[in-house]
Amino acid sequence: MAFRTLDNADVQSKRVLVRVDLNVPVADGQVSDVTRIERILPTIQELHKKGAKTILLAHFGRPKGEAVAEFSLKVVVSALHKALGLKVAFAEDCIGEKAAAAVSAMQDGDVLLLENTRFHKGEEKNDPEFAKALAANGDIYVNDAFSAAHRAHASTEGLAHLLPGFAGRAMQGELEALEKGLGAPVRPVVAIVGGAKVSTKLDLLSNLIEKVDALVIGGGMANTFLAALGHDVGKSLCEHDLADTARAIMAKAETTKCAIILPVDAVVAWHFAADAPHQTYGVDAIPSDGMMLDVGAQSVERIASVIDDASTLIWNGPLGAFELHPFDASTVAIARHVAERTRLGKLVSVGGGGDTVAALNHAKVADDFTYISTAGGAFLEWMEGKPLPGVDALKA
Ligand code: ADP
Ligand code: MG
Repeated sequence: MAFRTLDNADVQSKRVLVRVDLNVPVADGQVSDVTRIERILPTIQELHKKGAKTILLAHFGRPKGEAVAEFSLKVVVSALHKALGLKVAFAEDCIGEKAAAAVSAMQDGDVLLLENTRFHKGEEKNDPEFAKALAANGDIYVNDAFSAAHRAHASTEGLAHLLPGFAGRAMQGELEALEKGLGAPVRPVVAIVGGAKVSTKLDLLSNLIEKVDALVIGGGMANTFLAALGHDVGKSLCEHDLADTARAIMAKAETTKCAIILPVDAVVAWHFAADAPHQTYGVDAIPSDGMMLDVGAQSVERIASVIDDASTLIWNGPLGAFELHPFDASTVAIARHVAERTRLGKLVSVGGGGDTVAALNHAKVADDFTYISTAGGAFLEWMEGKPLPGVDALKA
């Protein structure tokens, strides 16, 4: 996967339009989590040092094409200024006279944030006229927002066709990590897929069985597979109507030589609550009034040994109801095992997904994985093998 990076861009004195992810959480008029801001600092600092005029473009919330005060990006200016240690100017529109005036007032090295791109309907429609109006303020386009790259919007895709386009450092880091995960991975590759439902992850499963050597299925999803194989899963979360689909996936895995690893035992409880009374059973002996809320200790051992044989691991979806202690046990144990193998240099490990990131943070392994993607939807579409328009537009 070849794409242009800042190494290929001559930015000195140029007006550089940088698409960033500033869709940060806000509480009481203050940015309450600066993770996304921290990710884009390297690109902005590099552009500043190279004497570019850095013009930031971003969306914030869902104002649906109208200028809505509640969704103004003005709220992030002070957090951005603090994190960067540089003055950040703000323009009340991302196109038109206000944007043009703010841009023409810039000196080399300055940083300017433009108002929410989604205040204009043309953004989400990828309207060519709107993209042109954005392009009027730049000489070069840099996309540093992988998390928005699954959407073909004017600021994430359209602009790349109007100006020379480059991946920013955060985008580059994400793409390089993902390339190690599925693009050109060191084999054997194992994937862990868990979470609640098969129905939300059908595309994911069919893509993975073509690409990985072993697929570990856990969480509520495993119940549907176990039921399809004739096991009684009691009152467990299970999509019985997807039994045929589950059998088709297992049959396809045989033809693609992808080993499917299902739980052999499970932690069963009688209600869905933290610290609910629980007991471990083999998957042949699940009580008909019980619910499997986590995979059992024997399954954990099996999964760990599959990981020991692998060189690359990708992970989406917790192995159990990790929000409820002690049904987080297998997810935490496997997360720590993956972290250990990664620290030893034996494994490249990539994880992502909303609840998966929360589960890996809960297991305190966030710094030990090779890469954890916080990109949500874009990460999942990448795992599903779908093209990402914002990335394709940067290909060299
Ligand atoms: P992600 O957001 O990372 O893609 P999902 O949303 O697919 O992950 O799955 C996370 C959810 O799956 C969690 O809320 C977790 O409680 C639930 N889950 C996992 N295992 C089970 C289970 N055995 N029974 C019920 N829910 C489960
Ligand atoms: Mg989720």
